[in-house]
Parts: sequence; structure tokens; C-alpha cells
Amino acid sequence: MPTTLTNCGICGKRTEAADCELIGDIWMPATCMACGRKRLLADGGLVVQLSHPPEHARFELGEIQLRPGALHVLTESGEHYWPFILRHARGDSGNFAARTTNRAGKAFLNGRGNIVSEYRTLLGKRVWVITAPGTVTLLLAPGEY
Ligand SMILES: [Zn+2]
Repeated sequence: MPTTLTNCGICGKRTEAADCELIGDIWMPATCMACGRKRLLADGGLVVQLSHPPEHARFELGEIQLRPGALHVLTESGEHYWPFILRHARGDSGNFAARTTNRAGKAFLNGRGNIVSEYRTLLGKRVWVITAPGTVTLLLAPGEY
């Protein structure tokens, strides 16, 4: 089977497309072995297991789950999920920063004690990143919460 080379969506290194464990993973760059693994869920969502936390992360992301609605929105705008996860992990809560009286850069917590960020894609659609610290991080479209 011929191997396809693509750039890792996280570190940018050339990697074999087969490493991402997905067939037809054209619209979203792969995740290389050094950065983690990806797994497709039955509902079309993706799980990303990072091998190390992102640099300058302020809290533990846990398992990263990319919900199908969010993937759809990112596919439309041609954007990779990683920059959104990174901004969130580094305390940039996006649109929520303006809605909190906390000083800039402080994570926005919802009523359940989860860390929530809201961003807009290049096409103006909203995506949310929600972390239950140390357990799971979800990237989702607002309708999926
Ligand atoms: Zn990588």
C-alpha cells in the first residue's frame, strides 16, 4: 500500500497519513506519532490522545474529543482544530473573555466548574471548547452541548 505524506496538524512535521489511523483523512491534517494518535468514533467524532501536554498549557486537557458538529464547521472553513485547542489551553477564552469581569487571560468557568472558551471560524460560525480539568476536553458546535 503506498504511503501518503502529510504535515502533522500539531507540530507541522511530515508524517505518514496512515499514522492518524483514519481513512480518507484529507480535510484534516494528521497527528504524528510524536504528538499523539487519533481515533474515529462511530458518530463521526474524533478522539485525540496527546503524547505530551501543549506548551504553556494552564490546565490538563485530558482526552480531547472533537464532536461531529464542530468538525463539520471546521471542514467548511478549512481550519484545523489544533489552534483552537491551543488558545483554550493557554487561557484565551475567546469571545467569553469579554463576558467576564475576570482579568484578561483568566479562564472562564461555567456553572459546572468547566473551563469554557468560544471562538469563531473564518466563516463566522461559533465553536466551543470545554474542559473538565484533567478528564476531558470537548470541541463542539453550540448545538452539541
Ligand atoms: Zn506532530
